[in-house]
Amino acid sequence: MSDVPESPPRSWAEVDLSALRHNLVAARGLSDQQVMAVVKASAYGHGLEAVACALEQEEIAFFGVANVGEARRLSKTGVRTPIYLLGGTFPTEREEVVAQRWLPCLNTMEEARHFDELARHGGTVVEAHLTVDTGMGRGGFLPGDAPAALEAIRTLPGIQVTGLGSHLPSADEDSEFTHDQFEAFDSLVESLPRRNELRHVHLANSAGLLGYRSRTTTLVRPGLLLYGVSPLDGHGTTLRTVMTLKSRVAVIRDLPAGHGISYGRTHVTTRPTRVGTIGIGYGDGYPRALSNHMPEVFIRGHRAPLLGRVTMDQVMVDLTDHPGCDTGDEVELFGPNIPVEEVASRAGTIPWEVFTSITPRVERVYSG
Ligand SMILES: *Cc1c(COP(=O)(O)O)cnc(C)c1O
Repeated sequence: MSDVPESPPRSWAEVDLSALRHNLVAARGLSDQQVMAVVKASAYGHGLEAVACALEQEEIAFFGVANVGEARRLSKTGVRTPIYLLGGTFPTEREEVVAQRWLPCLNTMEEARHFDELARHGGTVVEAHLTVDTGMGRGGFLPGDAPAALEAIRTLPGIQVTGLGSHLPSADEDSEFTHDQFEAFDSLVESLPRRNELRHVHLANSAGLLGYRSRTTTLVRPGLLLYGVSPLDGHGTTLRTVMTLKSRVAVIRDLPAGHGISYGRTHVTTRPTRVGTIGIGYGDGYPRALSNHMPEVFIRGHRAPLLGRVTMDQVMVDLTDHPGCDTGDEVELFGPNIPVEEVASRAGTIPWEVFTSITPRVERVYSG
């Protein structure tokens, strides 16, 4: 890509912001609800500031972050889109949340009372959403307790409850449970008094948005989908790849049959083998768990198999069948030619973790 630096880093991630915006349009095509763009964990490793700035003009209802540190970073960029904290806050963080007008989700009465106290002390009112635990087990009020909690919190003068949310534990794994969960959530919302005061009702992550419909929600919270990956099979065709992880061939050597490759010598050549050494490893976030699970990389229009274990800074690939390869050649570790889902599954993990594991050593290079 044109804006790779003159003296390039050994490995870098190309992030296509026009693909990100394309995926937002695709997400919007699935429902007429508002969108909270989930940008936690540095926008799934794509870069919090760049992703937020790329989406700032797109009429996003909220940016969803995991914690106060991420909210701070977002605020510093100057974005005007409201910032929503997806998880619980520590008591020491709450004064800043109130002062900065970030939106907390309320998980307990204790949290609500503390926010109320801080807001009244500061002469203000905190806008917040109530979290209901309909199956995730991570936070929020149980459905049986939620109506009373909502009533109680509504009596607190320092808090204005403008929304209600819940989360899906199994939308990409268990459709029966998830259909029941949607039904239970919708029934609960329908049973609440003064329901119209809850302007933002939300349940769906990417899989929930792709595979399910709600009668009551007004807002969806896609993360992975925006980054071009579908958590549900057969839904990815309209999405575009946002991140391409790349490196270069540093060394090419011809080794005889019977030569060990990498730590543990788990691979021993069975034929005279042309071995390319690539400048990326688990120190860059390329998963060590890929070792000996037959991962492939993409080089000069072909797939080439990895040999032996992933080391901290380098991996070895078999270039015997691709004699045209040269040192300095670009190598795609994942991207349009090697789906990140494939890398994740060979590494025994999920695309979310592959994205968020890419370390700061990997320079993010933006286009679009
Ligand atoms: C991370 C997260 C999301 C986004 O999930 P995806 O599966 O990446 O779409 C949505 N809601 C909550 C509460 C989350 O923590």
